[in-house]
Amino acid sequence: MTWQLADEDATLNVARICSDIIDGGGLVFLLGTLGAGKTTFCRGFIQALGHEGAVRSPTYTLVEEYPLSARRVCHFDLYRLGDPEELEFMGIRDYLDDDSLCLIEWPQRGVGVLPEADLVLHLADEGDGRQLDIEAGSDKGQHWLQQLQQ
Ligand code: ADP
Ligand code: MG
Repeated sequence: MTWQLADEDATLNVARICSDIIDGGGLVFLLGTLGAGKTTFCRGFIQALGHEGAVRSPTYTLVEEYPLSARRVCHFDLYRLGDPEELEFMGIRDYLDDDSLCLIEWPQRGVGVLPEADLVLHLADEGDGRQLDIEAGSDKGQHWLQQLQQ
């Protein structure tokens, strides 16, 4: 499924819609070049779930955790990950539990250690705006995608 996002507000809005539908735990990958809007999407998603503070890019920390009312959301940016094995040292398995929703920017850096995503979001420049493509990678992701299409 594809969305045209004319400006930053459109990205925040689609993130809010996704946050309504993506319930419980799961793994969401965000692909796209620097500046494509991945962090903007994560900010919209996390703030729509009730987080009132800032959502900073975890460029240096690699991960930020948001303990929200119903579940934990973990926002990763793996751009600076040197080697996928560093994820093991970070304790990646503790983040990927059934009650956590993990949003991962630059998942390519973790190939071989990260499991398959439930949803893959691909953001790309489209004129002055962006285009978002969403694909499912699991039955759970397929279920979310069907709900997004309604
Ligand atoms: P990334 O995390 O992919 O590197 P960011 O989320 O930091 O990218 O966004 C980079 C810039 O793109 C920000 O200035 C943001 O306001 C802008 N942006 C986000 N969504 C859109 C959009 N749909 N159209 C135009 N600009 C956007
Ligand atoms: Mg980013």
